[in-house]
Amino acid sequence: IKILICQGTGGVSMGAKDVEAAFIKQIAEKGVDAVVGKRCDVIKTGCRGLCANDVLVDIITPEQGRVTYDFVKAEEVGQIIDEHIINKTIMEKRKAKPYYNTFVDQQMRIVMTGCGQIDPDSLEAYLEEDGFKAIEKCVKTMKPAEVTEEVKKSGLRGRGGGGFPTGMKWSFCAASPGDKKYLICNADEGDPGAFMDRSILEGDPFCIIEGMMIAAYAIGCYYGYVYVRAEYPLAIERLQHAIDTCYEKGWLGKNIQGWGFDFDMRIKMGAGAFVCGEETALMASIEGERGMPRPRPPFPAVKGLWGKPTNINNVETFANVRHIINKGADWYASLGTETTKGTKIFAVTGKVKHTGLVEVPAGMTVREVIYNVCGGIANNRKFKAVQAGGPSGGCIPAEVLDTPVDYDSLIKAGAMMGSGGLVVMDETTCMVDVARFFLSFTRMESCGKCVPCRIGLKAMLDILERITEGRGEPNDIETLLEMGTTIKKASLCGLGQTAPNPILSTVKYFRHEYEAHINDKR
Ligand code: SF4
Repeated sequence: IKILICQGTGGVSMGAKDVEAAFIKQIAEKGVDAVVGKRCDVIKTGCRGLCANDVLVDIITPEQGRVTYDFVKAEEVGQIIDEHIINKTIMEKRKAKPYYNTFVDQQMRIVMTGCGQIDPDSLEAYLEEDGFKAIEKCVKTMKPAEVTEEVKKSGLRGRGGGGFPTGMKWSFCAASPGDKKYLICNADEGDPGAFMDRSILEGDPFCIIEGMMIAAYAIGCYYGYVYVRAEYPLAIERLQHAIDTCYEKGWLGKNIQGWGFDFDMRIKMGAGAFVCGEETALMASIEGERGMPRPRPPFPAVKGLWGKPTNINNVETFANVRHIINKGADWYASLGTETTKGTKIFAVTGKVKHTGLVEVPAGMTVREVIYNVCGGIANNRKFKAVQAGGPSGGCIPAEVLDTPVDYDSLIKAGAMMGSGGLVVMDETTCMVDVARFFLSFTRMESCGKCVPCRIGLKAMLDILERITEGRGEPNDIETLLEMGTTIKKASLCGLGQTAPNPILSTVKYFRHEYEAHINDKR
């Protein structure tokens, strides 16, 4: 019998540790193992996505299969043990409502396969789930170039936002001259509302280590950094524990498992600047400099960290890699759309019935994600728009709700995949306010290095504030469009190049709301 207790940051903050302690204590006191004649294991897991319903407890028994209880409190643990485990009766009134199954069953969980399933602190649990089988396959049966080819063939594209083909990126760094190369995992997740990287690190940290080992083998790197925000203490704690365990058990360091392959890695904590998610700013931060973007070229694959060839991928990208190696590029390429393969994790927030992390095959439509997986709009209100891709993305209105979630279709609709944030808005949301919110975020996070971004975003924000305060002027909309277009073209890095997107897309689809503010002076 297994009792799985969700202990991501959401679960822990809702009292999951008390729930776990109560199960352990009462199972021992009641002598449950002897009473039911089976061993009863209490297992802490990472986040399974539905944080709003924590503490989530799954009980797996031979008689009842897997049953989920949500909003579990330590005080009711005794009753759950008595009724569900000892009397073998499902507490129908207490178990998670059918929405829980809809939320989970409509998804395709590949990257998040370990999250909510295994103890993130247990190397043994990871090994039982075919952990480190992919790196073993690479080192024992494939040449480095073959590994890169396999990833290229799979069609995997960077999940951090840019969508650059991962295998191609690896091949650039592999082809750069020099025997010292670096590998970086970008875990500087900063989009408001996005927490997929945190959940993977908290729920399945060994899979990131393995993904990095595979990339290191393919490229020829011997040292890796995971750059993770200091605001993610639990993710850092679990990843550090996983790294320490790997060193202890010979899965990191020199001559890993006697295979003649070396790889070292460590965590570098970031101080929370959004711009440090940009590759060159991130590397400057690791080097101890102020985290500011650098002009490209030279590209990191040629001259990156400490001036050496460097490859950077994000957490979700690395988490895909072991599945591609284990199941093959053809399997992976068979999932998704023509140009976006595999699955994508979205952090769905806002005016939707069930918020949380969902992993769906690329190509599912935005409508399906919102209505089928997440239950539709809360309080039976009307859908108005969804902001896709975080503060650098754009708003998708009802008329393009059937846009498939793939890189190219989202861009065509005026948004972007970004890291996978989806903020849902209903009929009561003011779109000018939404644009102002996202712009105030990017303006605050601008590093100030280049003029278009530093001055331009401030000027745009001033206009937006003027409009929302009823002081808008007749030519404000045209000025916003002109400034936004110029800032996108003239800024040095991705932050400035995408910051005007929320304004440009809301003007495109909701111009009448801007006009109403200006004309009615409200
Ligand atoms: Fe800094 Fe903005 Fe210029 Fe990027 S675009 S370098 S964030 S000022």
